[in-house]
Amino acid sequence: MNNRKIERIVKPGAFNWVGDAFHTTSFIGNNTGIARHRMDPFIAIGYNPPYFFTPKTPPRGVGSHPHKGFETLTMAYQGRIAHSDSKGNHGVIGEGDAQWMTAGSGILHQEYHEEEWSKTGGLFQMVQLWVNLPAKDKETPAHYQDLYEKEMTKVLLENDGGLVDVLAGSYLGQAGKATTYSPMEVYNVRLNKSGKATFQFPNHYNTAMIVISGGLLVNDTEQVPTDNFVMFENGGGDTFTVEATEPDTVVLMLSGEPLNEPLVMYGPFVMNTEAQIQQAIEDFNSGKFGKI
Ligand code: MN
Repeated sequence: MNNRKIERIVKPGAFNWVGDAFHTTSFIGNNTGIARHRMDPFIAIGYNPPYFFTPKTPPRGVGSHPHKGFETLTMAYQGRIAHSDSKGNHGVIGEGDAQWMTAGSGILHQEYHEEEWSKTGGLFQMVQLWVNLPAKDKETPAHYQDLYEKEMTKVLLENDGGLVDVLAGSYLGQAGKATTYSPMEVYNVRLNKSGKATFQFPNHYNTAMIVISGGLLVNDTEQVPTDNFVMFENGGGDTFTVEATEPDTVVLMLSGEPLNEPLVMYGPFVMNTEAQIQQAIEDFNSGKFGKI
């Protein structure tokens, strides 16, 4: 067993507002120094560290907008998020829950703070990943999976170290409930102070984690504070360990087999060619994505 080494640790950088509801920093892509394909199939990693929202009615959010050719995976850590889309899906998630929306051939959706939560306001923290779809699956009909924390596959760690919520892939042989279009592992690792966990992924899988709360020691040597993004090297060792240096440490773990396909992104569309982007724009403009 060789240690898989850290390639980079990234602090939150510039922030952008998505609508008036999501105060996010990007760990990959434009101006971050990490090219999107470096984390393929995860092509956008937006993180909203804890941010205090005052009470508001109606709730803050992002109104109807399209997506095509990929999936959005939204995870709430504090606060509540409501989703609705042109296929008639509605979902509300709270702390520890996730929404996995496959935009596929095209969809419109809106993303808001949940109405009752917004009336009270409070600390809000979330992550949204954009997960690319393989070329052969980009025209799959849009659909939606709710993943509630209390229904997730939970793998208990040794020595009362905590537990791993498996969203996708499997940890120590126990599979998560989400259906994915390419091999990937997505977990929330919940550690008690001094709790430890070991991870072993194929070393060509692009692998990273975000320290959502608490603090982490990686491979017994590198300390990583909360809100930081950690990207691992490829091609070296395949095993790494994490140990919580603080109570209630939560880590979002991501590892995926790269698709290694051409990536053409234009706003909310993620395709393989410019021609497909043009088609997506035409389809959206002609109303083929439906209505909310
Ligand atoms: Mn969206």
